[in-house]
Amino acid sequence: MPVTIVIGSQWGDEGKGKIVDLLAPDMDIVARYQGGANAGHTIAWGDRQFVLHLIPSGIFHEGVTCVIGNGVVIDPVALMEEIEQVEALGFSVEGRLLISHNAHLIMPYHKALDKARELWRDAEAIGTTGRGIGPAYVDKFARSGIRVVDLLDPNGLRKKLKAALDEKNAILRAVYGDDGIDVDAMIAEYVDFDRRIDPYVTDTANYLAQALADGKRILAEGAQGSLLDVDHGTYPYVTSSHPTAGGCCTGLGVPPTAVDRVTGIVKAYTTRVGNGPFPTELTDDLGERLRAEGREYGATTGRPRRCGWLDGVALRYTARLNGFTDLAVTKLDVLAGMGELKVCTAYRLDGKVTDRFPNDLAMLERVEPIYETLPGFEGDLSSARSPEELPSDAHAYLDFVADFVGVPVSMISTGPRREETVVV
Ligand code: GDP
Repeated sequence: MPVTIVIGSQWGDEGKGKIVDLLAPDMDIVARYQGGANAGHTIAWGDRQFVLHLIPSGIFHEGVTCVIGNGVVIDPVALMEEIEQVEALGFSVEGRLLISHNAHLIMPYHKALDKARELWRDAEAIGTTGRGIGPAYVDKFARSGIRVVDLLDPNGLRKKLKAALDEKNAILRAVYGDDGIDVDAMIAEYVDFDRRIDPYVTDTANYLAQALADGKRILAEGAQGSLLDVDHGTYPYVTSSHPTAGGCCTGLGVPPTAVDRVTGIVKAYTTRVGNGPFPTELTDDLGERLRAEGREYGATTGRPRRCGWLDGVALRYTARLNGFTDLAVTKLDVLAGMGELKVCTAYRLDGKVTDRFPNDLAMLERVEPIYETLPGFEGDLSSARSPEELPSDAHAYLDFVADFVGVPVSMISTGPRREETVVV
């Protein structure tokens, strides 16, 4: 099994961190292919818990090498902090963490622009985390970005930073009325990263090509979720990169022919953080209960997540988009005791029933969900270790979802900890 991709099938926060951490011991390499430090991947084992933002979720398994691919945008300040935190937990990182020399860097002016633009957009704000990720991708595609490799050449870096800041400060001051950023202080800070980041930097695409040739197993870890894909998601309320399967190939430099498993992570209900249409959103007490029981607050920002029923129409759309070979259903325990359960199986759009997911914003805002109602289930699911130990109505719920989407369920997560998992 050369490359397995693990992808969020909804709007992110599906519990990818836990599933990647679970699959990691069977892998040689875990590689992140897109996004930045906005995503928080929560890993819990025993009584310990850690939220990873940039480092791949395989770092807590000593035999696994972790790769941050060229498709990721890296905030060096956040990365260095995260490395220190992981090492403080007793895990060695040097030699086990490789960073692509082609990955782009998030600079202080990207964060300033991110925040200034959100303020400027006011009511039309995207709901970004203000961490500079969008503006860093803008510079990447405008071909004015600064890459990890640039950190290794202090003189060249000084020139590039100066040129970039001349432009960004002009924009920040003239358009957004911001004070701008001090060039010398920033240069001093970033030139210092040369020394600190050097041991980790390599040509990761070449490393992965060699690993594939040597028969090693690679797990590619996506951040956010498929419905946040900049092309296929609910634009403009999306992220600036490609969480979908194609993003793995471009974001790591691995060929599509090397991929033989694409696991979709499906939260047993739906959540969404930030703005944008959400057809199955529950704004009543039930939505509150899902948020409370599922602890649906952002791992990075603490923002409350919007909650609702599982949207089968959206899930079938992302299953086709990514070519899911199997589904890992998370947070099934949260649905226990919620009474009857609903799954959205079609939309009513302008009086007509459709099973197509319209990723056009105006259409998606108009759809009304049509639900299939299923019996609820009760009890503590967390001790189940085999499918037979789950309540029969929990089975029925999963069978319904698998049949509707046309993809089998391979794993069921019934709690945040590694142990609380059923492998089918
Ligand atoms: P990710 O970004 O997709 O990794 O998801 P997050 O880490 O933002 O959110 C998932 C949250 O749910 C974390 O706090 C996990 O510890 C927790 N979690 C993961 N799987 C389960 C599960 O099966 N049940 C419960 N109750 N919590 C879970």
